[in-house]
Parts: sequence; C-alpha cells; structure tokens
Amino acid sequence: MDLSSLRGIVGEDNVRDNVAELYVYGADASVHQGLPGLVVKPHSIEQVSQIMAYANSQKIPVIARGAGSGMSGHAVPMDTKSIILDMKAMNRILEIKPDDMYCRVEAGVVDDDLNRALKPYGITYPPSPASSRIATIGGEIANNASGLRSVKYGATREYVLGMRLVLANGDIIKLGAKTRVEAAGYQIHRLIVGSEGTLGIVVEATLKCVPIPKYRCLSVATFDQLEKAGDTIGAIIASGAEPSMLELMDDIAIKAVNKTLNMDLPEVEALIFFEADGKVKEAVDHEINSMRLIVEQHGGTVTATSYDLKERTKIFGGRKKLFAALSRYKDGWACTSLADDMAVPYTQMAATARKIHQIADKYGLIMTAYGHCGSGVMHTKILMDPSKKESWDAAKKAVDEIYDFVDEVGGITSGEHGIALSKAPSWKKTHGDMLPVMTKIKFALDPNNILNPGKLQDAPDDWLTATKIRYQML
Ligand SMILES: Cc1cc2nc3c(=O)[nH]c(=O)nc-3n(C[C@H](O)[C@H](O)[C@H](O)COP(=O)(O)OP(=O)(O)OC[C@H]3O[C@@H](n4cnc5c(N)ncnc54)[C@H](O)[C@@H]3O)c2cc1C
Repeated sequence: MDLSSLRGIVGEDNVRDNVAELYVYGADASVHQGLPGLVVKPHSIEQVSQIMAYANSQKIPVIARGAGSGMSGHAVPMDTKSIILDMKAMNRILEIKPDDMYCRVEAGVVDDDLNRALKPYGITYPPSPASSRIATIGGEIANNASGLRSVKYGATREYVLGMRLVLANGDIIKLGAKTRVEAAGYQIHRLIVGSEGTLGIVVEATLKCVPIPKYRCLSVATFDQLEKAGDTIGAIIASGAEPSMLELMDDIAIKAVNKTLNMDLPEVEALIFFEADGKVKEAVDHEINSMRLIVEQHGGTVTATSYDLKERTKIFGGRKKLFAALSRYKDGWACTSLADDMAVPYTQMAATARKIHQIADKYGLIMTAYGHCGSGVMHTKILMDPSKKESWDAAKKAVDEIYDFVDEVGGITSGEHGIALSKAPSWKKTHGDMLPVMTKIKFALDPNNILNPGKLQDAPDDWLTATKIRYQML
C-alpha cells in the first residue's frame, strides 16, 4: 500500500499503522477479531472521496467505522490489507431546522451529542439505540439501529430523509430529500439504511426530528410466570395502547443486576417495564392506566410508577445497566453477543424465552432473555468460559438451535443489531432466495468488492471456524 498517497489526502497524523492501534481497530463489541493494514481518519467528504478512489484503483478493502459498537463483527476487517475508515472526526452538526423538523449532520456525530444539541430547540432524534452514548449516526444508519423507544417511534430507517454517499469509486452522490415525503425514483437512501457499510460510505445525513414529549411516565410490574408477562406484552400492543417503551427482563437478568449492581429487584420470573409519553398529562395518564389494567388482568403486579426523572432512572437502572451486569455475572466467564437480537411474534415471546433457558441448560451455558419486547425484539446473551474450546462448540450449537426455533415460530435472525458475521449462517439459511438479488445490487455499486467484504451474503458459513475469536486461543 502506498502510504504517501493516503498521507497526501488526510495528512501524516491521520494515517495510523502502529500495531497496537491496528489491533484495537481489529475488534468491535462482537466475539470476532481481525487486523487491518491501516487506519485512515478523514475530516471531509472530499477526503473520503479521494480515499475511496485510491482504494478502488488498488482493490484495497475499506471498512467504515463509527464507534465500533456493532455486536456481530460489522467493523471487523476480514483481510489484513484492509483500510479502516475511522469516521469519528467527521462530527459536525451542519443544520438544525426546528420549523422544518429536520437536522443535517456528518456521519461521525455521536447520537447523544446530537440529541443534546437538539434539546434547546425542543426537538429530538428518537430511534436511538441503548449504545447512544457512543454510537455514531453513520453506524446507526448502516445498521438500521433501533432501541428502547422504537415501539412507539420506529427505527432509524423511518428518520433518514436523505444523505450524501461516497460510492466505492469515490463518486459523491446526493440521495433523498429534506421533506417528509418523497415519491421519486428508487429511494436509494432507504436501501443504504441497514447495508452494513457494504454499498457506500455515508458521509452526511438529513434526519427527521420530532418534538420532545412534555410528560413521560414509567411503571414496572412483576410476574410469577414468564408466560403471563409474554401474554401481557401481546395484549398491550393488541389493545391499541401506545407504549413509548415496553421491556422484558427474565429471572436471570434480574439476578444478574441484583448480584453485580447491588440492586434489590424482586426475584420473580419476569418483570416488564412500560412507559407512556406525550404532550398532555391526562393522555399519558390514560395510556399508563390502560396498560396497568392489562397487566393486572394477566396476573401481574405493578410495583412502581413515576413521572419524576430521578425516580424513573432508579426504576429502570437495572435494565439500563444489564449488559454490564451480565458481563460480571460469573467470574472468568465472558458475556457474548452471539444470538442476541431475534425478533418473534408477540404470541411466541414467552415460548422463545423458555426455549433459550432450556438450550442454556442443555449445553451448560448461562443465557438470559430480555429486550425491547414491545417491538418484538428478544435479546439474549450467552455467558460461558471463553478459555475452553468446549464452551465455544456448545455456544455454536446453542446459537443454531435458537435460530432454528425462532425460524419455526415465524421470527427472524436479527430485529436490531444486524447480520455481519456471527448471524450470517442462520440469516443466509432463512433468506436464501434474497441473496442473489443482494449480490447483484452489491456488484452494481461495488464491482471490485472493496466495501466491507466478507459480511452479510458474503460472510463465511461458520463463524466459529472461519473467523478469529478474540477471547482466546482456539
Ligand atoms: C452496550 C451496547 C448496547 C447496544 N444497544 C443497541 C440497541 O439498543 N439497538 C441497536 O440497534 N443496537 C445496539 N447496539 C449495537 C450498536 O451500538 C449499533 O448497531 C450502532 O448503530 C453501531 O454504531 P457504531 O457507530 O458503533 O458503528 P460501528 O460498530 O463502528 O459500525 C457498524 C457498521 O456500520 C458501518 N458504518 C459505520 N459508519 C458508517 C458510515 N459512515 N457509512 C457506511 N457504513 C458505516 C460499519 O462498516 C459497520 O458495518 C448496542 C451495542 C452495545 C455495545
């Protein structure tokens, strides 16, 4: 690779090739580890364009990277010649238009920074993932991220009005609009959402905003049976109630936060958190009361309700810090995101959670069931001793069994975090007829296959043997 060409584009300091840095940029929040050839940090659209033109001419793989918080190996390079395009320096908020209800940002802007900047205008960008403290807008677009409040507000795709995209050959194109509606052409910006960095580099995005709700009320309810909690979630949605959040935590999740965060959540089979928001307090009261009634009709007990921010933060503290709690649940064990964000029909929520527990027992693993169940998302994490090859073999079998079950009950491999590497085998199995079409689109936009190669339809069929696992020496 000719470093002087790249240094000529972005400057000496913004091309990094020391091994320690390369090693860090070789991993994300998944189990996978790679090693890139270089890290390049562009500061402008023109620089991204020139880097892509150079990489395309040399057929060098390029992986766009935001915060590296992807959970399935999205930003992990598959080839040691790869360039990691670190987008974090492109972090300017370019326009805030409260009267037109949109904003325009560079792709490296961090979600929480954007929402802090929007707040004084009384507006917000709501599809934020739980990782909003670090996740970038570019990474969220590439993953169609969604989160706690997507049950009411929807996922990223519904908020991306337009974007500027740098193609594999370096061309800069403008997509979409600033208006709420658009009925013109292929709406390619929607195709880019969820494309995991394989079709182009998002450099700028125009995002729809909504007013910040004036009132927000959160309740938590306990259930002595998981099935009752599952039925309640379905019944709340079917009733036409409009929760702004509807979350489930199973007994293992509850034990994990009690043990590692010294919390005193009731150790029942399941908890649900339900929230309503809006501009009129009576309307919020009405939503909360109607959900409370449904909880009680299904045998649940509401143990706390509050409008107060401090109180709400306390009520929700365990759920908010669950990932960290699971990571410390058992000494020496790792918390891995392998089969972590399936979506299933509401009627299959509890059955899926039970199945996860049965599979964990069968393979001697610890697995929890929790998530944004109001949107149909069922999270799990697989806890295991990462130093043992048997644990990985068991985890692999567990993952396959979970996905087979999810497919049987009408669910999907990923409702939230995307496919990349770890989820590709299951997704390819269930979406086989779509793959040739995706491959044609991919090669039309990226004929040299330089944009994040080896992911999605191009990913290996067995993540365990075909990728390096970062926890241990297999
Ligand atoms: C604790 C934790 C909680 C999480 N909670 C959620 C959640 O609630 N909901 C959810 O959806 N996800 C969640 N995630 C997953 C992850 O944070 C999101 O998918 C997030 O959108 C990734 O953003 P990022 O900036 O870290 O992207 P990265 O991980 O850096 O990249 C992700 C993908 O996007 C591509 N990409 C990045 N920037 C660009 C760009 N400018 N142009 C083109 N492609 C680009 C990369 O190539 C890669 O394929 C969570 C992760 C963690 C660690």
